[in-house]
Amino acid sequence: MGDETTAGAGPGPAVPGAPGEAPVTADGAAARPARSLSPSRAGDFLTCPLLYRFRVIDRLPEPPSPAAVRGTLVHAVLEHLFDQPAPGRTPQAAHSLVEPEWERLTAEEPELASLFADEAELAAWLEGAGVMLDRYFTLEDPRRIEPAHRELSIEAELASGLHLRGYIDRLDVAPGGEIRIVDYKTGTSPPEEFEARALFQMRFYALAIWRAQGRVPSMLQLMYLGNGEIVRYQPDESDLLATERKVEALWQAIERAHQRRDWRPRPGRVCEWCAHQAICPAFGGTPPPVPDDLPASLAEVPGVAEEAPPSRPPSPVPAAPA
Ligand code: SF4
Repeated sequence: MGDETTAGAGPGPAVPGAPGEAPVTADGAAARPARSLSPSRAGDFLTCPLLYRFRVIDRLPEPPSPAAVRGTLVHAVLEHLFDQPAPGRTPQAAHSLVEPEWERLTAEEPELASLFADEAELAAWLEGAGVMLDRYFTLEDPRRIEPAHRELSIEAELASGLHLRGYIDRLDVAPGGEIRIVDYKTGTSPPEEFEARALFQMRFYALAIWRAQGRVPSMLQLMYLGNGEIVRYQPDESDLLATERKVEALWQAIERAHQRRDWRPRPGRVCEWCAHQAICPAFGGTPPPVPDDLPASLAEVPGVAEEAPPSRPPSPVPAAPA
């Protein structure tokens, strides 16, 4: 997860400006530009502009949900599974990492423990994480993979000056230099008509790598641990040019929304898990006034998952495959 406080750091305290303008520090020097976007927040704006505003402009806190925290836990286990020498990357090794990773997460955020009423509820939840890990092993054999990077922070600047930022779960590089971007999803794979949307995040990452390194990744791979499916896509330059145009248009829409202070709710299935229904006009609520101050970066928000919202609302973990 990114750190906006450092993203806007410059000499002296930053004076916020509108999206698209570089914040200016108290001594008049230009701080790092605020023109930055991550795929998760781009996805928020596409899903519901008001949700984007609540998260990025208002920075309203959101209570952790068991489904989101389980996603964090499973990602952490899969990241550290690759610390083991290849022969040791077994299902048993993954399961043995669940408790220590959970203890690490609760040490960092003690309030997570209060998500569960009692030990039995916590045990059932941890078992759900184990089911997802077992499902991971049905999709690939980690003993045959040596990732080049895990939890890779990427950043690139487009010709317009817009910064792209994000975190990639895993980056594999073949001996011939071909790049594969891998993203673990703890939800289920989306229906075909929503697949393009799921791939937008991956194209966003591919665009950032292309612009930063000059290489078009050869494979984008989404691994859905909720139902054990893989979605693969081979992008080319024309795909990524189209993604670039889309990202630029999206940013312009964000700038327009900010200039007009017009962040409209767009009700949909996402509302089922939205933490802000009580202040959403679509549910009879009243949002607070739009703050005058803007964060220095409009990319990441502390406390809000960088992973895009699940392709479907979080649902109980299905039973392990027979
Ligand atoms: S409740 Fe729905 S419409 Fe309202 S802000 Fe949340 S996602 Fe948007």
